[in-house]
Amino acid sequence: MKKKVAVVGGVAGGMSCAARIKRLDRDVEVVVFERGPDVSFANCGMPYYIGGVIRSRAAMAVQTPAGLSARYGLDIRTRHEVAAVDTAAKTVRVRALGSGEEFEEAYDALVLATGAEPLRLPVPGADLSHVHALNNLSDMDRIAEAAANAKTACIIGGGFIGLELAENLHARGLKITIVELMDQVLAPMDKEMTAPLLQELEIYGVDTRLGDSATAIEPGAVTLKSGARVDADLVCMCAGVKPRSALAAAAGIETGPRGHIVVDGRMRTSAPDVYAVGDAVQSRCTVSGEPVAIPLAGPANRQGRIAADVICGRDSEYIGIQGSSIVKVFDVAAGQTGLTEKRLKALGLPYRRAYLHPSQHAGYYPGAYPVDIKLLFSPEGKIYGVQATGAEGVDVVVDTIATAMRGGLTVYDLEELELAYSPQWGAAKHGVNMTGFVAANILRGDMDVVEPDAIPGDAFLLDVRKPEEAALGMIPGATVIPVDELSGRLDELPRDRAIAAYCGVGLRAYIACRLLTQAGFAAANINGGFTTWRAFNPPPAGQS
Ligand code: FAD
Repeated sequence: MKKKVAVVGGVAGGMSCAARIKRLDRDVEVVVFERGPDVSFANCGMPYYIGGVIRSRAAMAVQTPAGLSARYGLDIRTRHEVAAVDTAAKTVRVRALGSGEEFEEAYDALVLATGAEPLRLPVPGADLSHVHALNNLSDMDRIAEAAANAKTACIIGGGFIGLELAENLHARGLKITIVELMDQVLAPMDKEMTAPLLQELEIYGVDTRLGDSATAIEPGAVTLKSGARVDADLVCMCAGVKPRSALAAAAGIETGPRGHIVVDGRMRTSAPDVYAVGDAVQSRCTVSGEPVAIPLAGPANRQGRIAADVICGRDSEYIGIQGSSIVKVFDVAAGQTGLTEKRLKALGLPYRRAYLHPSQHAGYYPGAYPVDIKLLFSPEGKIYGVQATGAEGVDVVVDTIATAMRGGLTVYDLEELELAYSPQWGAAKHGVNMTGFVAANILRGDMDVVEPDAIPGDAFLLDVRKPEEAALGMIPGATVIPVDELSGRLDELPRDRAIAAYCGVGLRAYIACRLLTQAGFAAANINGGFTTWRAFNPPPAGQS
């Protein structure tokens, strides 16, 4: 008799799994139950359809049920919801949403790929018709239609989806307010690394309210905890997601502390022959080894493939999730992989950090922009994670270092990587190499650093930029001596105090520190220079 696999959820994880099973073994019978009208659609593209960047509605449905059935021989039932799982009888109870009919379907293996759903904050008025969340193509259509008749929008939550919606609703001509409970946008990053994003939102006229929250929603306005009222013809709830794991939990399948389905490396749940993949599950962090849940499309797809392999008898294993991500906020990209400083602190792991701001390609070639990089690493040189922002080249930095981390490379190996270069792309000393140089210089003791958020109060602050640069902004109390004049002006510096030197990004100050330490001074470089100090000490809104 043919083996029968039932898949619940027909998008990223579920459809990857279903299609791969058929590619591996056409004889396996695969039935996919999807409660929505669409399968395998482009979740990640939805904000850009709303903004008009993606113009074709048809392109949003990457595959159709008919197309997938024809290609793979899948049995795809859209508008069919799985209401219950009986793990002992190995059956699912299915509700046909069109007719209301219910039936039992038997399985030999079951794959739960039910995803995650947006959090609906318990705010009075959250159920009004102009309040939306973005989770599927029907939501997308509703928001796109509402945007056509709206002048103002309030986005509750400044995470990935909130930021993408802000940009795209702005592109539709709406005046945007973002309300964010935390004191930063994009919570998965460290706060100082999000400073360029706040600046970008300000440039585009987005009113970003940090440390505030919505307390009431009414037609046309949202009232905030601070007492402010913001105009909002359209409200988008983007306050995060929670796993859709109720089906699994009701079937007695083990879930974790935040409700995610617990799986092993073969995507097996606690119930025999029941697998789970995607946003609904927690898996192992490849860097710390702890259980984590990071809702991203790449891991969902890979987990789907692993579950398919295992169901078809292959010896595949999911090695874990690293959290590689990137998001566009108007003209700036923000990317990261691995652990943040916040996480390292929570885990109590010893770490060092390197800040630098190299250009994405040779500085003399037109169109060079800085990439702001923060690398976190152990005292032995193990790479814990990287965060980067910038107009271009963020993907190259994050992806290269993500790959290095997977391969177990250290900061010393980053120094040695041979990366593609011509003036349009990269540099003879590529930003990734520079990241390795800075980190290795710190670890080898070639460069003492002072952290920009912990400058000792009694340090002598030395600004080695040109006076005209310093005039545009400097650390209060600093003395300006340009690096090229330093060797002739050593008598102006104290020999009995620690010198904290800085320039724009750390390079000239590194040269200054080498000169000063060889001349007997106690000099250290402010990590990342004035640019990073500024990220920790942003000017009030409107003055950047
Ligand atoms: P989904 O793709 O959400 O699929 C789950 C499906 O299960 C749903 O269609 C649901 O209807 C169905 N389902 C649930 N319960 C049942 C049931 N009982 N019976 C039948 N069907 C059921 N990730 C990135 O990496 N990069 C991005 O740029 C990015 N952008 C995003 C933008 C938006 C607006 C959104 C919403 C998500 C974005 N993501 C992004 C996240 C990414 O889409 C998800 O991580 C990924 O889709 C998760 O896959 P999944 O299979 O677990 O869940």
